[in-house]
Amino acid sequence: MLQPALYIVATPIGNLDDITARAVQVLSKATVVAAEDTRHTQRLLTHLGVKAKLESFHDYSDDSRVAYFLDKVEAGESVALVSDAGTPLISDPGYSLVATAHQRGIQVVPVPGACAMVAALSAAGLPSDSFTFEGFLPAKATGRKGRLSELAKNQGTLIFYESPHRIESMLSDVLEVLGDRPAAIARELTKMFETITKSTVSELIGFTKQDDNQRKGEFVVLIEGNREQTADGSDIDTDHLLTTLLAELPVKQSAALAATILGVKKKPLYERALQLSGKK
Ligand code: SAM
Repeated sequence: MLQPALYIVATPIGNLDDITARAVQVLSKATVVAAEDTRHTQRLLTHLGVKAKLESFHDYSDDSRVAYFLDKVEAGESVALVSDAGTPLISDPGYSLVATAHQRGIQVVPVPGACAMVAALSAAGLPSDSFTFEGFLPAKATGRKGRLSELAKNQGTLIFYESPHRIESMLSDVLEVLGDRPAAIARELTKMFETITKSTVSELIGFTKQDDNQRKGEFVVLIEGNREQTADGSDIDTDHLLTTLLAELPVKQSAALAATILGVKKKPLYERALQLSGKK
């Protein structure tokens, strides 16, 4: 018997052996498995030799469906949530279920495993100390470019999911908005035609254009964060620092304090502070 709880169970993203022993145990013992697509999950369960009661749960499920599964947990049953591939809630259904479980004081237990963005980041050769996972960018170019502009200053690696029919236009927009940064494409991870290519955005565009196969399958796109140093050579965003200080202090004091923090001369900061405060 499993302890009554909502279990969030990661499943493979390609290679069916990428599932943990604990995940198999939870799927076998759960009273019910809530699946994004029951037929898809049935194929995995058949491969694993697991018999389970499958019921559907997806992002279009309404409040009554959320309540239906959580009532079961409150009645002493165990519910396992799975998506079609990887970790539920990561660009996949489940958020409403987990958020409501917390509101109702119901225990939520993660059963970790495969996740395409983590697998991609671990093998892409781009800085992994800090990153932003964006999931899918907006489908239309205007929205996509707008979101990319908002991300332009991020210093951590940017990670996106992308579909085959948008991979080329997405990379072109990245080139236009973020410039020709180091980047990587992780395609068909854990599957037969897995390809991980690290280069620059412009070369990756050439690479996907020259070979039809490189536009097929599933993609994670990773773009190096903004590595530009500020004019004074520090990693601190001077404007942000000055604006923060100006909200509390007069121009002269803000410039003096910023100069001390950054270890640079006061005069250029004073000039910039005047501009930022609209006094010049
Ligand atoms: N929940 C999943 C996870 O944990 O990664 C992601 C689900 S999201 C609906 C599907 C997207 O994830 C795909 O369009 C692709 O961008 C990415 N993806 C999933 N499996 C992948 C794989 N084997 N190789 C590369 N990208 C993959």
